[in-house]
Amino acid sequence: MMDDTPGVALAVYAHPDDADVACGGTLARWAKAGSAVHLVVCTDGGKGSFNPKAVPKKLAAARAGELEASSAIIGLTSVTSLGFPDGELVDSDEFRCTLVERVRLLRPDVVCGHDPSALFFGQEYFNHRDHRIAGTALLDAVSPAAALPLYFPDAGPPHQVATVLLSGTLEPDVWVDVTDTIECKAAAVECHRTQFADAQGWAGEAVRRRAEEEGRRAGTSFAEGFRRLTLGG
Ligand SMILES: [Zn+2]
Repeated sequence: MMDDTPGVALAVYAHPDDADVACGGTLARWAKAGSAVHLVVCTDGGKGSFNPKAVPKKLAAARAGELEASSAIIGLTSVTSLGFPDGELVDSDEFRCTLVERVRLLRPDVVCGHDPSALFFGQEYFNHRDHRIAGTALLDAVSPAAALPLYFPDAGPPHQVATVLLSGTLEPDVWVDVTDTIECKAAAVECHRTQFADAQGWAGEAVRRRAEEEGRRAGTSFAEGFRRLTLGG
């Protein structure tokens, strides 16, 4: 169980709903405890619909509104949308440089993101391409790039991130107790109406069930699990 509260945390996720689903309880817990909690959302989410008549620009605008509402519930300090087209994330120098800039500017103690090594979750879901690419680019941006001055020398003074927490992982080795913020997480996830079109309350119920399962593994009521990396010695 991880109890410490970071001074500054940065979460980097591919789509507007990802952070709330992955670690909304943890981010809310830290925000309530006084951490500065920043979020970077890489894509605009403009293709996240089964409706063939959906218009990507309109969907992206709706999702930006959903993100604004959910971020207020979580208590985020800042939200930055990079606006890459949904489904088209590329592990480019430009993308990594942007992430390095954010890391060097915000100087987080803890960075949260997608575990890029997680591919198959059982037999019914495999990890979204944007999640894998965002996770890979984030890891490379954090270390070594952000920590060493000769990488992206114009992107600000180097910063060594101490801890990386990867969500959506097949190998969780640390848990954060989100018992006090599970309702906050459920409410935040419920904001993403375009993604959870089922009956009101369904997404929140799924969030509680999932956190309860992790809680059982961690010995508490509700938890979120991560793979933890401790960097920089
Ligand atoms: Zn996603």
